[in-house]
Amino acid sequence: MADLILSASSVDTFRRCGYRWYLQYVERHEGSQNVRAAVGLAVHKGAEAYYLRKLAGASHEELMEDAYAELLAEHDAMLVDELFDVEFPDEPIDKAIVQSRRTLRAYLEDVAVDIEPVIEPELAIEATINGIPYSGHLDVADEDVHDIKIKVAKPRFTDDYAFQQVGYGILYRVATGRKERDVVLDFMIRLKRNRPYHMPIRNGGPVDDQDIGRFAGILTWAANSIAKGQFEPKGIENGACRWCPVTAFCTPYQETFNATPQEYGQDPSDYDGPRGGVAAENFWD
Ligand code: SF4
Repeated sequence: MADLILSASSVDTFRRCGYRWYLQYVERHEGSQNVRAAVGLAVHKGAEAYYLRKLAGASHEELMEDAYAELLAEHDAMLVDELFDVEFPDEPIDKAIVQSRRTLRAYLEDVAVDIEPVIEPELAIEATINGIPYSGHLDVADEDVHDIKIKVAKPRFTDDYAFQQVGYGILYRVATGRKERDVVLDFMIRLKRNRPYHMPIRNGGPVDDQDIGRFAGILTWAANSIAKGQFEPKGIENGACRWCPVTAFCTPYQETFNATPQEYGQDPSDYDGPRGGVAAENFWD
């Protein structure tokens, strides 16, 4: 795999289940789209539209008063486009649209207001670490790197995000030529009825050399394991199958559980998944 370029999400996928990585990144099965992911993409799109205009000189007040309809239109277009691909809705679509708009507004009012971007939002950056190409997108950056995360519940296992945070710090240094002040994951928790709220998870300062060493170790392990073809279906033991989008292509899954979520009805969220499953939203973005 001479052209292998790793990213935070592909390494995360590999750590949870090597076979899922193989199905998604080698066999190129895209898996099924879901409403949660569509909402996340739409809020990102609205935020990107906001930051592009801010980078060009618009103020927060101008954007929220005069240009908000344009931002919302970009959000809505992305949401409709993504929802079109959802075959089995994991939540009511009409309610998700309302919550998605509300989440964008809350994010802009509570978080984006204080961020003055110094680079283009959603900038794709590539770095080489231990000789391994690594790439990612920075949602937005000022003195800090900020990553936007849209969830329906508070993340419980925040340590799972440490790898991503180090990667963002490294990519920021490549893009700007300077050290980040902090790496912040801006979780927006969207609620069924109430206003979404902001829950930042900070690295606590610039990423330190020890963290970069650990990051390089994990990246090297993943690259070596992939080169050796070690694609074990680990999701069956650790519960990751529960939210895997490629169960339909996974023979070990089907042999073990003798079913796919789709067989349980129109709504895959009715399906409990394998026994002993682990809370989903903490695994996948
Ligand atoms: S269904 Fe489970 S075992 Fe199969 S690829 Fe997905 S996570 Fe891995």
